[in-house]
Amino acid sequence: MSGRAAEIMLIQGRRLAELRVSHLFSQMSLEAKRHLLVHELIHCHFATAHLYADEVLEIVSMLARRAFDLNMEMGIDGMADAIAPFMPLPDF
Ligand SMILES: [Zn+2]
Repeated sequence: MSGRAAEIMLIQGRRLAELRVSHLFSQMSLEAKRHLLVHELIHCHFATAHLYADEVLEIVSMLARRAFDLNMEMGIDGMADAIAPFMPLPDF
């Protein structure tokens, strides 16, 4: 998690995930924390796509895998832009 304020580990076959925050998280504004938490939680809705990328795209082509990851991150961040303002601010 070096250089990243948060990451989410999706648990295969379950509607569960482990969300971890680093020391960088505590230095962020409440709005930025909320956006990041929403971003990470949206990843849960794409668990199957992430699994496909892990198991298929990585074998087929590293370039395809990178394109998938970039497009996924951009899409999820756009969704977080739209959703985060409607969520409560974190209290930590
Ligand atoms: Zn992400």
